[in-house]
Amino acid sequence: MEIPLKSYLTEILDRVRDRDSGAVADYIPELAAADPTPLAVALCTSAGRVYSAGDDEREFSIQSISKSFTYAIALQEVGVEKVLGTVGMEPSGEAFNELSLEGGTHRPVNPMINAGAIAVNQLINGEDSSVDARVTVLLDYFSRLAGRELHIDERITGSELATADRNLSLAHMLRSYGVIAGSAADAVTGYVRQCSVLVTVRDLAVMGATLALGGRQPVTGEQVLDPRVCRQVQAVMASAGMYDGAGRWMASVGIPAKSGVAGGLMGTLPGQLGLATFSPRLDSSGNSVRGAEIFRILSEDMGLHLMSALPSTGSAVRSIRTRGPVTVIRLQGGLGFTGAEDFLAAAAAHELTTVRVVVDMRRVSDIDAFGREMVLEGLRRIRTDGHRIAVIDPDHLLGDRRLGDGTTVEETDEVAVEVADEVK
Ligand code: GLU
Repeated sequence: MEIPLKSYLTEILDRVRDRDSGAVADYIPELAAADPTPLAVALCTSAGRVYSAGDDEREFSIQSISKSFTYAIALQEVGVEKVLGTVGMEPSGEAFNELSLEGGTHRPVNPMINAGAIAVNQLINGEDSSVDARVTVLLDYFSRLAGRELHIDERITGSELATADRNLSLAHMLRSYGVIAGSAADAVTGYVRQCSVLVTVRDLAVMGATLALGGRQPVTGEQVLDPRVCRQVQAVMASAGMYDGAGRWMASVGIPAKSGVAGGLMGTLPGQLGLATFSPRLDSSGNSVRGAEIFRILSEDMGLHLMSALPSTGSAVRSIRTRGPVTVIRLQGGLGFTGAEDFLAAAAAHELTTVRVVVDMRRVSDIDAFGREMVLEGLRRIRTDGHRIAVIDPDHLLGDRRLGDGTTVEETDEVAVEVADEVK
């Protein structure tokens, strides 16, 4: 069977292909000369399957999308406290190259605008690092995130550096406030080289999926970043990733995203997917026109808007059956707060009349720390109510089965359950 996703993605590209509004970025000569026609889309699932269509092997410079990753690497390498001492996390609502500094602290307001990104770049590899060494660290991380060796297009770096007055002035300002220590020229060179890394939409989809999946690169399986780091990066992307269009973007598309002036756009759907598009013509906020339209269509068609998550259907309690002296409560699916609450509510509502109560965990696919604690606490209370409790938990989802009072729940074989099964 052929998976119909590629043809679906191709169809979406056909729907937006004719839109020719917007213009390629013109303040960087290399980008001003870019062909505006290429069009591509890719998505990467949590299982590391990548689907793409259009000019999906075409490389382009990552530009501001790099800001998300450099921010992640800074958080990973130097820790949240130091990073937050350097750059804030409020949306600026202003253009990408605005000098938005917080009153009082003089920190750039967030890491997604240039002032913030230049400051964050300087946190990599220590204050005394050379530009080369710093960029090597970044490139190594970017490559691990993409799952292949990435390169810098030095022509783009050179072209941007020749017209970098605005970024240089931002760097001088940051230096005057003591936000960066190195020279303004070095800071901008490091930042512009970071922006000149070449990627394809497939790379960006995988890199985005890594953020969405708590730092585990879904293709190579490598844990590149910590889950907390990814949470922080996506939170800031959600509020500030699309510059002065961030509010409208979150309302209409609802996917944390970051755009770049070369025409790339990357989105992350926490726990699920990485998405990316490429189309060089930009709107007045500096976001790809056709890329944004593709995101809008995907979000609508596939129900990806973060705020439209459907209420989870079905209960985590698969059945409660009683026979003779045993009641078996079978749980199923993922047990986070919601699933564990199903269990507690069902156990509370059901009149447990038997001497023994067995909780069968064999159909539970996943459990988090809070869910585990709730299930164990529920078991303890059932016991306090006068029952003998036991679990069937061959995958050790309940860990060492220790209850809040220090005792341990008995693990039972399946005989008790088979008995109850006969009365289906
Ligand atoms: N290198 C570009 C700049 O600093 C990145 C801007 C962007 O992609 O939005 O001007």
